[in-house]
Amino acid sequence: MKKLTKMIHGGITGDEQTGAVNVPVYQVSTYKQDRVGEHKGYEYSRTGNPTRHALEELIKDLEEGHAGFAFGSGMAAISAVMMLFSSGDHVIMTDDVYGGTYRVMTKVLNRLGIESTFVDTSNLDNITNAIQSNTKALYVETPTNPLLKITDIEASARLAKENGLLTIVDNTFSTPYWQTPLTQGADIVLHSATKYIGGHSDVVAGLVAVNSQELAEDLHFVQNSTGGVLGPQDSWLLIRGVKTLGLRMEAHERNTKEIVHFLKEHPAVSKIYYPGLEEHPNHEIAKRQATGFGGMVSFDVGSQEKADQVLSKVKYFTLAESLGAVESLISVPARMTHASIPADRRKELGITDGLIRISVGIEDADDLIEDLKQALS
Ligand SMILES: *Cc1c(COP(=O)(O)O)cnc(C)c1O
Repeated sequence: MKKLTKMIHGGITGDEQTGAVNVPVYQVSTYKQDRVGEHKGYEYSRTGNPTRHALEELIKDLEEGHAGFAFGSGMAAISAVMMLFSSGDHVIMTDDVYGGTYRVMTKVLNRLGIESTFVDTSNLDNITNAIQSNTKALYVETPTNPLLKITDIEASARLAKENGLLTIVDNTFSTPYWQTPLTQGADIVLHSATKYIGGHSDVVAGLVAVNSQELAEDLHFVQNSTGGVLGPQDSWLLIRGVKTLGLRMEAHERNTKEIVHFLKEHPAVSKIYYPGLEEHPNHEIAKRQATGFGGMVSFDVGSQEKADQVLSKVKYFTLAESLGAVESLISVPARMTHASIPADRRKELGITDGLIRISVGIEDADDLIEDLKQALS
């Protein structure tokens, strides 16, 4: 099945009981047993719910995995995956991961004895050099947020495997429409489905797909034990979102290419980060491992004052955290999504006060460019 078809017909479709063409919202917590232990596959909705199950089957199919899991947020998904590890285990992570991922590793999971080292994983030598005797996993975000750095999934997963490590990929920015890390050697792929997969700024959710029966059993055990599951209504919203994921991603990217072209020529823009640009340091890898470059762009306007001017003047770009929705969003990572990263560390990473990140929506590209033009003037 091709991707666009899979988005409509993947997972579980319809309802056998009624012939409804969509999976209904099973707003239910518990299920009748005919005799003790005799049920129709569902006992209690933390353990399993038919609407959530349909979504979990869908992400499994989209990511070409062995099993899928849905959580109450991207952070709940990431935390559950990290609970596969134990006190004394060590994880190597991409240095400019999502701020919340950095926070949970360095402020919460570290207290439980799960250690982490952050390196620029776009350079494989950095991964090799960070491997310790207790390293259990490599956690890669690609493209990253907000600098759109790219890690070679296939090469890094191979390196991880040679060293007995699991490879985990945060695929939020690319989505399974552009990139399927499990087919490139990763073991676990995860998403903040709050972003492109949901796509309409109306749900907070996380999704995971794994590539083996063993990981499926272990992660289901954690999911059921710790309970960070997604509710049936939100599961239904994500299934609905996925139906247009392919169309939206194409539209996001079309608009983004035009905006990048405009920004490149603009004198007020000193630096622009987009993997689709030939001068992007990892452009060739991006081209090889994904079928699209996505709808996220960051650019530097030189100072906090100039950034504030742009933010106050834009009309179609909403100042907000988050990304990946139909409406265009604009943010300043240093004071928003990445504020939880210490200032000196932000500077090291290149997340300057003048850095602006935009999530390009699916409005008319001419309107978006007009808007940026007047805001930058
Ligand atoms: C937003 C985001 C997360 C966290 O997901 P939530 O749904 O907000 O909990 C994780 N990774 C990336 C790349 C994100 O953009």
